[in-house]
Amino acid sequence: MTYAVKECFLTLQGEGVQAGSRAVFLRFAGCNLWSGREQDRASAECSFCDTDFVGTDGEGGGKFQSAAALAAHVEALWGEGREQRLVVVTGGEPMLQLDRELVEALHARGFRVAAETNGTLPAVAGLDWICVSPKAGTEIVQREGNELKLVWPQTGIDPAELEGWNFQHFLVQPMDCAEREQAMDAAVALAMERPRWRLTLQAHKVIGLP
Ligand code: SF4
Repeated sequence: MTYAVKECFLTLQGEGVQAGSRAVFLRFAGCNLWSGREQDRASAECSFCDTDFVGTDGEGGGKFQSAAALAAHVEALWGEGREQRLVVVTGGEPMLQLDRELVEALHARGFRVAAETNGTLPAVAGLDWICVSPKAGTEIVQREGNELKLVWPQTGIDPAELEGWNFQHFLVQPMDCAEREQAMDAAVALAMERPRWRLTLQAHKVIGLP
């Protein structure tokens, strides 16, 4: 299989339960909920995306002809040490490309494999960490995992309903949009009203990491 990677770089995880952890970010190109073109945003199933996932021209991006080649690329970015190796596979929608072969190739190099998905496709087997971020109006098939990260507010999503899903952590993250202050207020209000939910902020944006 050929993997199309938008970008791949070493950074600190900025969001969620693993925030602050050193990680290689592996961002696959493409998503099943938006083309990534601005002219399609209004009609897309997901319209608040803040990520460029189009093409393979980002830092560390490119086309990789095999799982072994891509895993070697991830390892080279991490560097020598084997302690606490972590790769965060994201997108776009990573489940369009992430397969068992790549998970195993990353495991063979000592990486824990975390994935951040919109949940509309089943997660590949063998992952060490699954973060699902549901989008209103979509059919979520991946209803279990480690972390449910709800970008808030979103009309058409009922947090009470999500609480019935099988996740260890329920996180609410203010939407990064023009109405940032209102989104923050809404996220704080949700965490105050429903103690199951914990507020998470995008720390990487505060400290200027990608
Ligand atoms: S599902 Fe994720 S990657 Fe796809 S358009 Fe929405 S926010 Fe962007």
